[in-house]
Formats: sequence, C-alpha cells, structure tokens
Amino acid sequence: MSAAAEIPYTTGLHEIAPGVRAWLAPDGSWGLSNAGLISGDGESLLVDTLYDLNLTRTMLDAMAPVTAAHPITVALNTHANGDHCYGNELLAPEVRIHAVTETAHEMAHDAPPEVMAALLSPAAAEGLGPVLADWIQRAFGKYEFGGITQRNPDVTFDQELTLSVGGRSVELRNLGPAHTGGDAVAWVPDAGVLFTGDLLFIGGAPIMWAGPIDNWLRACDEMIALSPEYIVPGHGPVTDCDGVRAVQGYWRHIRELAREAHGKGLSWTDAALAADLGEYAGLGESERVAPNMYQAYRELEPGLSTVDPLGMLAAMAQWDAVRGNGGTNATTPPATND
Ligand SMILES: [Zn+2]
Repeated sequence: MSAAAEIPYTTGLHEIAPGVRAWLAPDGSWGLSNAGLISGDGESLLVDTLYDLNLTRTMLDAMAPVTAAHPITVALNTHANGDHCYGNELLAPEVRIHAVTETAHEMAHDAPPEVMAALLSPAAAEGLGPVLADWIQRAFGKYEFGGITQRNPDVTFDQELTLSVGGRSVELRNLGPAHTGGDAVAWVPDAGVLFTGDLLFIGGAPIMWAGPIDNWLRACDEMIALSPEYIVPGHGPVTDCDGVRAVQGYWRHIRELAREAHGKGLSWTDAALAADLGEYAGLGESERVAPNMYQAYRELEPGLSTVDPLGMLAAMAQWDAVRGNGGTNATTPPATND
C-alpha cells in the first residue's frame, strides 16, 4: 500500500506531512471539494475555499487549532469554479488571495453565486423543465448559494510563483488551460505534497470546461515529473502518481471514443449517449462524458457551435436521465437536443 493510500478518506482535516494538511470531503461528487493548509513558521497558506459559507466556516473552524499559532496569511484559488472559491469572503481582509490571471478573470465574469442561487430557486424549475431541474437539485440542492459575496483574488500570476510561507517554500504553477482557463497547483517540495485542484478527480469522472485534452495530458506529465509522494486532488481521496495516470487514461479513452463516433457522423450528444466508458464506467458523475465529448469534438471540428454552461448542464441532465443514476427510462431510445 502506498503512503498516500494510508490517509483515510474521511471528512475533515488530515495532516499528511509535518505542517501540511488536507481538508477532505467525501464522496467528492458535485461540489464536495478538497482544500489544503500548508503551515510554516507562524503563518499558513490555504489552498482553496469551499462551495458555500457553511462548508467553509466548518473547515476554517476545524483548522483553528493550527491557525491560532500559524494564521492564514496567504491563499490560493486553484481555479474559478465556485466549489474552490465561493467561501473567500470568510478569509480575513488582510489575507492575500492568489490566482492565475485567467482564473481571476473567470471569477469576475463567469457563474457568480447568484446564478447558482437562481438556478435552484423554485421559480426557475418551470423554465428549466423537469429533467434539468431535477438533476440540478440532486447535484447542487444541498448547498446554500444565497448571501454569498464573491471576493476576487488580490494577486495574480501567469505561469509560476514561489511563495515563502513562514520560511517554507511553496511553488504555485499554472498547468492550465485544461479543466478551466487557468489551473494552478501548489507544490510543497520539502514535504513531497502536491495539491492539484480539479486537474485531478479521483473516484469520479473529470470534467473539461476549457481544454484542450493535450494540455490536460501534459499537465499530468508535469505533475508526475515532480515525483510527489502525496497528491491531494480537487475531489476524492489522497492519491499518488497512479491516480494521475488514471486521469490520463480517461482522457485518452474519451479522445478515442470521440474520433470513432465523429468518423461515423454521430453528433457529440449522440456520441456521449452511446459512449462505452469501459474501465471508467464505474466512476462517479459519469454524465460528465457529455461536456467532455463536446470538448473532444470541438478539437476535431473547430467550427462546432458554442454551447453555454446551461446547455452543458442540460446535456449532463439528459445523459443522466437516459444512462445514469437518474435513469428510470434506460430502455427509451436516446433523445437528443440538436
Ligand atoms: Zn471542484
């Protein structure tokens, strides 16, 4: 058993190396994201806040015994998805929040918490239709998006930035665009611990909002090249380089499926509905094959019409209704929306 596999996957704060802690949130499905706390002499760096204020408050309270002596002075938002930054307002005003430049742009312009709150409102359900409204409730209904004031990063960087956290070196690297337009990892070389944000999903399917696939594969190569002993993914249990290779395998499989289906003239939605996920069929949130297939198609067909985020959610809801956990009608022929 690898050292990483010995870290229990239970909710809460786990010290995985001296002064390096992971906040883990099983089961890692929609919105249940991990975070990190890297402590040096008298200060700490927080890797990501959580999806809502309740979750973030619970995490910060659990960190209090550590942060009393080593207060959080710096933070990193690994990327712009809300489950990694919606809790930012709970950090002290003097905490300098870091992010990749593109991440800061996405946080300021894409999917603010009010949009999520609106999607979950009873008034929205009718307009969304039953399949999408039901899926959104199941994926996101347990979070409280009302009353969140988005706090944007204070410091941005493009490629790399090395911070000294109480004398401890922490390297921030942008390995995106892949999952989103900017995807930062935090590497703690003296402890052999890498925090990857959503460049890694372990136990659940990854999801690609930006791409391209080649860039994600390269990001994985770069992570492996660091030879980390412990890798804290954005979602799922602590892993090691085998976990990184599994994510690479998923993307190679999706790219192969896309090439085959595209060659047969299938639409991306039909390709997703027909996809044989093979050894990846057991991953959680399998419906992510829909946006992933779209992204793979976009690489094969640059003129493919743009699908907005709500359209992507609709494609996942549809996939789930036909083939996923929400599938009560798996014998019904796939319906398509194009
Ligand atoms: Zn996430």
